[in-house]
Amino acid sequence: MLSEFAIIRRYFERPARSAALGIGDDAALIRAREGMEVAVSTDLLLEGRHFPAGADPRRLGHKALAVNLSDMAAMGATPRWATLAIALPSADPVWLEAFAAGFFALAERFGTELIGGDTTRGPLAICVTILGELPAGSGLLRSAARPGEDVWVSGALGGAALALEHPEFAEARDRLEVPEPRVALGERLRGVASAAIDVSDGFAQDLGHILARSACGARVDYAKLPRDRALLPFRDSALERRCVLGGGDDYELVFTAPPDAREAIDAIARDLALPLTRAGVIVAGDARLELHDGAGRAMALEPGFDHFAA
Ligand code: ADP
Ligand code: MG
Repeated sequence: MLSEFAIIRRYFERPARSAALGIGDDAALIRAREGMEVAVSTDLLLEGRHFPAGADPRRLGHKALAVNLSDMAAMGATPRWATLAIALPSADPVWLEAFAAGFFALAERFGTELIGGDTTRGPLAICVTILGELPAGSGLLRSAARPGEDVWVSGALGGAALALEHPEFAEARDRLEVPEPRVALGERLRGVASAAIDVSDGFAQDLGHILARSACGARVDYAKLPRDRALLPFRDSALERRCVLGGGDDYELVFTAPPDAREAIDAIARDLALPLTRAGVIVAGDARLELHDGAGRAMALEPGFDHFAA
C-alpha cells in the first residue's frame, strides 16, 4: 500500500519552474509580476454529485483542472499555478497514474504548475485551487455589463447536457467529460469585453449572474444561440431548449462588449478558430433575461441548475 507521501512524490510532485518554491514544504511560494493582480478560484468535485462513481480517472484529472482553468478564462486571467486537495478511498496506482496523466497533460498545455495540495483517505473528492495573473484592473467582472452592449457566446451550447440525457453519444460525452477551457479567449478579451462568465450551470442562469451583478437586463434571440451539432439529429425542440438554455458544464464563455468591439471580436474568433456568436443585447432595467424565438415571440425560461434547489 502506498503511503500518503509516496503518492505525492510519485504522482504529483514535479520540479518547480515558475513558482519560487513548489511542492514539499509547508507552503509554496509564488511571485506575481509587477503591475499584475493574482486571480484565485476553487472548485470542488464530488463523486456522485459532479461525476458518477467509476468515472474514467484520466478524464477526471482533465476535468478537475479544466473547470478551474475555465474560471481563469472567464476572469480574463492567465492561469499560472494550482493546488490539488484530493480524498481517495484507496491508493490505486492504476487510477492515480491515469488521473495524474489527465491532470498534467492539461496543466502543461496551459503552462499551469502544480505547487501543492493535500492528500487524504476518504470518499473520492477532488478540489483544485487555481491562481492566475492579469494586468491590474483588467479583470472581466460580472458587474461590468452596460445597456447597449452586445451579448456574445463562444463555441456551442448544450453538448454537455445532452450527454447527461443521452450518454450513448460519444461526441457529447467528450463535451461533458473533457471540456476545453477557453483560456486563450479569456486572455484576448481583456480590454475588449466588459463582463464575462463561464457556462457551468446553464446559459440562462449564468448570464443571469451577469445581469444581477450589473443591474441590467438582456434581450437574447434564442434562434441565434449557437447549439452543439450533436443536438441536430434529435430534431427535438424541447430537448434542445433544455440543453441550450438550462444545460450546464459546457464551459463556454458568455461575455458582453460594446458594439464598437465587434470587429475586434470577429478577428479574435478567426485567430482562435473558435466561433463567437452575437446573440443579444444588454438593456436598461430589471436583471431579467428576455428570450425571443426566431419569430420574435417571447419564450418562457427553464430554470438552471442549483445544487440547493428542491
Ligand atoms: P502538511 O502536513 O503541511 O499539510 P503535507 O504532508 O500534507 O503537508 O504535504 C506535503 C507537501 O506535499 C506539501 O508541499 C503539499 O502542498 C504537497 N501535497 C500534498 N498533497 C498533494 C497533492 N495531492 N498534489 C500536490 N501536492 C500535494
Ligand atoms: Mg497536508
